Amino acid sequence: MERLLPTYARAPVTIVRGEGTRVWDAEGREYLDFGGGIAVVGLGHLHPAPLAAAQAQLDRLWHASNLYWTEPQVELATLLSERFGGARAFFCNSGAEAVEAALKYARKATGKPGILALEGGFHGRTLGALSATGQPGKRDPFAPLLPGVRFVPPNDVAALQAAMHDDVGLVLLEPILGEGGVIPLASEFLAAARELDALLCLDEIQCGVGRTGTFFAFEQAGVRPDLVTLAKALGNGLPIGALLVADEVADAFAPGDHGSTFGGNPVACAAACAVVEAIDDDLLARVRAHGATLVAELATLPGVEEVRGRGLLLGAVLERSAAEVVDACRERGLLVLSAGERVLRLAPPLTVEASELEEAVAVLADVLSANA
Ligand SMILES: *Cc1c(COP(=O)(O)O)cnc(C)c1O
Repeated sequence: MERLLPTYARAPVTIVRGEGTRVWDAEGREYLDFGGGIAVVGLGHLHPAPLAAAQAQLDRLWHASNLYWTEPQVELATLLSERFGGARAFFCNSGAEAVEAALKYARKATGKPGILALEGGFHGRTLGALSATGQPGKRDPFAPLLPGVRFVPPNDVAALQAAMHDDVGLVLLEPILGEGGVIPLASEFLAAARELDALLCLDEIQCGVGRTGTFFAFEQAGVRPDLVTLAKALGNGLPIGALLVADEVADAFAPGDHGSTFGGNPVACAAACAVVEAIDDDLLARVRAHGATLVAELATLPGVEEVRGRGLLLGAVLERSAAEVVDACRERGLLVLSAGERVLRLAPPLTVEASELEEAVAVLADVLSANA
């Protein structure tokens, strides 16, 4: 363990197996997984559809390079375009890489270096994505970052409009700030961002792929972005990221402008195709219903000041440190996340059962009343 660089404050648990909403550690202890591997395991651990698709692809072809076409990559781009209503895709291996692709795309398409982003926003750890991340603690040790990024407070339309300048080519927003505390953007704020004379990129790496009860979170706000970044849940745990570019603005990249050796890997794409196909209207309706149940239950718990989010990306603002509650829940067999100091974040698999919601709420009630 001392052979790993200490970039994470890891819990003293080694996870060895998962199935559905549950995982097991090396000692055989069972946990209810309401973190979903940080909003990644959207269909639950070992879901049969992406498992079968990935296994079949493993037996056919692992890698061909992007000098050639592969069937899973073309199929995934087609499925995502259908969901978006006309887009072209670039595939990569992570969220930060999808954001990097968006930053380069906007630079090439507009010729303008300026970016508007949000205070508290999170877009990844690479230098470009970090430059657009509005969290000083993550940025400051790595200055100087990309110049020309301005940050505005979430949902402050006047500040957004005031920050707009001629040099801004890209507005980069999370429809729900995930790491920043599960803060949904108001429809009016997204509409105001859409009206600015710049490309609008919505970072749906955490809130996309069905997590909020629609395939894309932006569907609920009625805006059509120019660019969308996806990653986390797209491969249900296999590493894949995507930049989608709306057809209307999709002519900026030419061969040689961008690339990725592993991007669009056939196994990851085959799994992702199965994920996208599994997110049907029934599952989305379930996400909305289970989300509403969870909001109502969480709001009744002691020490919960506010519950916010959409679908199954929820944040409970606590009167006290979320980290302590995360630890206490884990000791009682429930994995949950924090998002900042006092926000407890829940992102269970979209396939979570009603009985599992009850189980999780019972543990939370126990933890919050025992230590309140
Ligand atoms: C997790 C996340 C990222 C970064 O994704 P990585 O795969 O960790 O690089 C970017 N944006 C948002 C909104 C995220 O939640």
